[in-house]
This record gives sequence, structure tokens and C-alpha cells, in this order.
Amino acid sequence: MNKKILIVEDNKTLANITAKKLQTFFNIEVDVAYSFQEAKLFLSHGKYFITLLDIVLPDAPNGEVIDYAIAKKNHVIVVSGNIDKEFRRSILKKNIIDYVNKDNPNDIKYLDYTIQTIQRLYKNRTHKVLVVDDSMVFRKQMQNMLENLFFEVTAVSHGEEALGMLSVKPDISLVITDYNMPVMDGLELTLKIRETYTKDELCILALSGNSDDEVSALFLKHGANDYIGKPFSKEEFSCRVNNSIEALENIQKITQYANRDYLTGLYNRRYFYQSVSEYIEQIQDNGEQCAIAMIDIDHFKKVNDTYGHDVGDKVIVSLSDILRSGTNPNDVVARFGGEEFCIVLKNIDRNSSREILERLRESVESFTLEIDEQTIVKFTISLGAVLHDPAETLDDSVNASDMLLYKAKNSGRNRLVFQES
Ligand code: GH3
Ligand code: MG
Ligand code: MG
Repeated sequence: MNKKILIVEDNKTLANITAKKLQTFFNIEVDVAYSFQEAKLFLSHGKYFITLLDIVLPDAPNGEVIDYAIAKKNHVIVVSGNIDKEFRRSILKKNIIDYVNKDNPNDIKYLDYTIQTIQRLYKNRTHKVLVVDDSMVFRKQMQNMLENLFFEVTAVSHGEEALGMLSVKPDISLVITDYNMPVMDGLELTLKIRETYTKDELCILALSGNSDDEVSALFLKHGANDYIGKPFSKEEFSCRVNNSIEALENIQKITQYANRDYLTGLYNRRYFYQSVSEYIEQIQDNGEQCAIAMIDIDHFKKVNDTYGHDVGDKVIVSLSDILRSGTNPNDVVARFGGEEFCIVLKNIDRNSSREILERLRESVESFTLEIDEQTIVKFTISLGAVLHDPAETLDDSVNASDMLLYKAKNSGRNRLVFQES
């Protein structure tokens, strides 16, 4: 996707400062036009990711450049010194993303705000939004606003359709729902969604023209993240939508930190136990089998002593890549700490798991880590593995694999010891 930005601004100093700042911050191409005439030339060459437009230009004093850019299907942020309320409102009626006040052209604080906004828009492209409203006019309006904010938008007309859509598109980040709708209203929809998705997984923004305070409270109690009363301004709408999405991203970032090992990006021990315990409970009744393997790098202390800790870290990262690429995406690969890893191979029998683990051992043995022209590091791993017995606990199986790993170490290393049947 085109990531270029166009700045239209007749104050050349300001235009150049803005361009420079955006260029460095985003590492993208920025075009600058000082007049409507120049802007038209740039816009005739194709669409921009964002256009930052001044309203008053010497050859177009009445915001002509805004209509022109919108007609050419560009996303527009208006940057203006005009802070008259009525005027601002009239410009906001156009299909623009935001109206930024450069209240004092010498104060470039608004630039930081603009950068933040653009950053948000880049990220919005990865989010899907579901709009639920029985009014077609309103639905279309919201869809346009959201698409202008770079979201991928789907719109449906009541709660039941929304649930259907969620079941085929489970990666939706935000549901924006009206209250009064036929078949299933927004409140019932909120309740139903919360049976499956927590607030940390999916945001719900509720809308209603109902002036009853109880409705907003009910929505929030039933699991909506936020509520907007109709009618609302486009600015309030986009701020609340962006806030909800930002909160969701922050929670996901924190969860990521809590569940993963910082060095390798693999799951950590804590998350391993949480997720594998759930999995083992699930397969208890359906007869699915899984294998659990403990893995440890051989003579790793020597690697550190010979090449230094940084090279040791690289060895750990290389091993994690080998383990990840040599297993299925739904298998669990975790770093338990130090140079010790644990793997769960899901839905597998004894022979296949033995083959996969043996192949991992061979992959490590034949792998060479090139540090520089003179330094090539080689290493091996030992593995202990069991087929999980549904009658035992996860702890039992992990301990049993650990015992077998110990056996592998004692019988010469660079080998797999699989529990005998
Ligand atoms: P064995 O074959 O018996 O497993 O011998 P070993 O040397 O691999 O085992 P030992 O447990 O004696 O040493 C493990 C070393 O791993 C000691 C520790 O300093 C180092 N280590 C633990 N975590 C890290 C890490 O994150 N990075 C690096 N570079 N080294 C680590
Ligand atoms: Mg309605
Ligand atoms: Mg070791």
C-alpha cells in the first residue's frame, strides 16, 4: 500500500518543518505543495496514504483543495489556523478524518498530535470493525467514517446477523452496536458476545438515541466497553473508537509480555502450564494423544565460556527458531528458563512424535551458527519425551520427560530418550 503523505501549506517554513518531521518519524516519502495548483499536480499522479491540507491557499481561499482531494478519494486531515466554531463544524461535515488546529503557526505542538493521529491510522489498518444498526442510512454513515479511519468494516442490521458474522470472522476487534433493533437488540447482542469474548479480546461500543440513563448503565454492566448517546459528533465518534482500539492493543501488548519469553518470543513456563493444562483437559474425553518433550542444550556452559554470553544468547534464539519451524503452528513450544525448553506435540501417536523429535535433534546437530568469518558455533541437544497418559497430571508427564532427559544426558548427550511403551 502507498504510504506517501502530501502536505499542502502555503507557509513554506511550516510546510518544510512538517515534511521533515514526518519523513524522519515514519521513514516515508512526503510531497509538499505550496499552492492549490501544485497540489492538483501531485494529486493527479495518484492516491496518498494521508493528505494534510491547509484551508486557505493564495489561489484557493475557501477550502477548494479539500473537496478536490476528497473527490480524488484521498484521506484528508485538515490543518487550519481558523478556530471559529461554526466554520470548523462546516468543514467537519465533509468526509475528513480530523480538523487539527494550528492555533499558533510558530508553535508546532499540533505536529505531535498529527503524528500520533497518523500513527493510529497506520495501525487501524490491521483491525476489523463490525457495525450493527437497523438504519441503513446510519449504517452507511458509520461505515464511511470508519473506512476513512482505515478500518476494515462489515455492517449488518441486527444482533443475530452480528453473531453470525462473528462466527465467520472471529478476528473482529470492535463491534459498534445500536440499541433498538429488530430480531435481537444491542443489549442482548452484548450479553451474547460476552459469553464468548472477554473485554480483552473484543471491544463493544454501544450507541443509542434513547435518552434514558438506564440504557447506558445497562450496556456498561452487560460488558460494553463504552457508550455514545445519539446524536454525536464525528469527532467524538472517532475519538471513542480510537480509544477503544488503543485500550485493546495495550491489553494485548501486556498479555504478550506476560506470556512470552523476552529473548526468544516463545511461550514462558507460566503460560505453558496455563495453556497445556486446558488442552489436556479438553482431550481427556476424546482420546486424542499428545507427546511432551523436555529439551536441554548440551554443554551450554562451554558455549558461554568460549564465545561469551551474547553468542550463548544467539544459540538459544537459533534453537528456538529450529524448534518452532520443525513443529506445527498449534504445537506448544516453550522456554522454561536458561537453555531448557519444553514442547507439546498435539494430536500425535508414539511413532510420529519420535520421528519429529529425532528430526529436531538432527536439525540442531547439522545447524551451524556463523558469528563471523572465523567463528562458527555448533551445538547439540538432548531430549527426554513421553506420550502423555490421560490418567496422569501434566506435572507427572513433565517430570517423567525430565527424568528421561537426565538419562539422555548420562548416556552420552545428543540423543532422544523416549519413554518405553
Ligand atoms: P549439560 O550438557 O549437562 O546440560 O551442560 P550445560 O553446560 O548445558 O548445563 P549447565 O546447567 O551446567 O549450564 C547451563 C548454563 O546456561 C549456565 C548458565 O549460565 C547458562 N545460561 C542460562 N540462561 C542463559 C541465557 O539466557 N543466556 C546465556 N547466554 N546463557 C544462559
Ligand atoms: Mg435503531
Ligand atoms: Mg545444558
